[in-house]
Amino acid sequence: MRKISLSNLDKLFAKVSEQAKLYVPVDGKNGIASFKLWEDGVVMSNALNTTRSAKDFFFPQTENLMEFKSQGKNIEIIDTRTEKEDFVIFGVRACDVKSFEILDRVFLSEPVDTYYASRREKGVIVSLACGRPAETCFCKTFGIDPASPEGDITAWKTETDLYLKANTEKGEKLLASLNELTEEGCEQAVEEQKKNISAIMDKLPLKDLKTDKFGVGKTQEYFNSPAWDELSSHCLGCGTCTFVCPTCQCYDVKDFNTGSGVKRFRCWDSCMYSDFTLMAHGNSRNSQKERFRQRFMHKLVYYPDNNDGMFSCVGCGRCLAKCPISMNIVKVMKTLGGKEND
Ligand code: SF4
Ligand code: SF4
Repeated sequence: MRKISLSNLDKLFAKVSEQAKLYVPVDGKNGIASFKLWEDGVVMSNALNTTRSAKDFFFPQTENLMEFKSQGKNIEIIDTRTEKEDFVIFGVRACDVKSFEILDRVFLSEPVDTYYASRREKGVIVSLACGRPAETCFCKTFGIDPASPEGDITAWKTETDLYLKANTEKGEKLLASLNELTEEGCEQAVEEQKKNISAIMDKLPLKDLKTDKFGVGKTQEYFNSPAWDELSSHCLGCGTCTFVCPTCQCYDVKDFNTGSGVKRFRCWDSCMYSDFTLMAHGNSRNSQKERFRQRFMHKLVYYPDNNDGMFSCVGCGRCLAKCPISMNIVKVMKTLGGKEND
């Protein structure tokens, strides 16, 4: 366990920046925090979490995949990959770290998504324990401990110091490079903080939310539930819940004619949109109810069905905070799961 005084945090960030691009959460306008490149003068946010998750670093909202140029019958494929640099993300919360495991199962399964895989290889994740979990948090429902986040390095911030512990080879290498700035830290302060975080978690309103009623083999039970009518009746199909969600991974691939060639790019898509899954014969999900059901069935039933029972929600609470009609996965779980989930 290493430790550094918070008053020297800038020195730590500067040292990391010498080795790789460093991104930290920074407060923006209207109190919205987001990850930004650290440079001298950038101040780390104290917000509990960023509005958009750290999934952007591995699965960006838009990215160019390749370019084509044709001359006669010849087509030249131009490699436009950009995911070649090492980078460090500092301050990723426990829920978002867990989301990478969920995304890995999608993007690193055969056929491997090499764009995502390169970024996972290049990125070092420094997680940060949640000092003040919020009322919208329910990560514990999915077995996540906000006091002991995973990642290459785990960090804990006390009133005066930052404690750092390496969990992987990548993390050990980075932490070793900071030895001149850090000193040996005792576990006691960290254990104390873990206890405090646990005490806050035990008081949160969603502490008793359970997943027992969901998971493997529940498709028949819930697919035709009459509850979907009411649950989805006010959904605007805006897609906000999918865009802020750290585990949503739908995307579209499009070609764009630049005039001198063709660019192929991909961008996030949303199962909540009416043109998602649109095919030549029409759409397989014609109503907002079907689209709404798809999103929540995927998180609570289909994904676990295909991934050894793992749910594809991490309880980050973003959809609770951001849906314009206050609809979210917790309401779905409480409605479908019945009284025990109330
Ligand atoms: S559930 Fe809410 S955030 Fe998601 S698409 Fe519907 S209205 Fe938008
Ligand atoms: S469904 Fe909602 S609470 Fe769950 S991971 Fe996505 S945004 Fe977070």
